[in-house]
Amino acid sequence: MLSGEVLEALNRQLNQELQNAYLYLSIASYFDELSLSGFAHYFKVQAREELEHAMKIYSYIIDRGGRVELFEVPKPKSGWGSILEAIEEFYRAETENTKKIWNLVELARSKGDKATESFLKWFIDEQVEEEKNAADLLAKVKLVKDSPAALLALDNMLAQRK
Ligand code: MG
Repeated sequence: MLSGEVLEALNRQLNQELQNAYLYLSIASYFDELSLSGFAHYFKVQAREELEHAMKIYSYIIDRGGRVELFEVPKPKSGWGSILEAIEEFYRAETENTKKIWNLVELARSKGDKATESFLKWFIDEQVEEEKNAADLLAKVKLVKDSPAALLALDNMLAQRK
């Protein structure tokens, strides 16, 4: 059985993953409005991944005999001032999520909850990948600067994301 504090923290993280899905859907719509369908596609895929993360936590809570508690998902930010600002938001959200995962690991460890610690290993590794992807996209957007040709090339590249 999951202990009260760890269960509460897992339910909060489940909600956080849903908040991230919502944020990325908002970013996707910003790019759709700009007719940058490759960027929009990239963030729709990203939003779907966050839903998968939420479901992983959902299943784990159930597997451990805990109760899933669904909290309110707040209205996400929308309407960025520039492409760069939207991608910076993505990078910030992922680095913040990494800290939340690490705090969860610390909590599980402090409670001697080895199963939760082991479960969270996947998330620690996933965050390395997520931060790398966000940093990579941020670097590319900075390289593009004011070149429409480079921006469209990047948009085409992002459309390929599986
Ligand atoms: Mg996630």
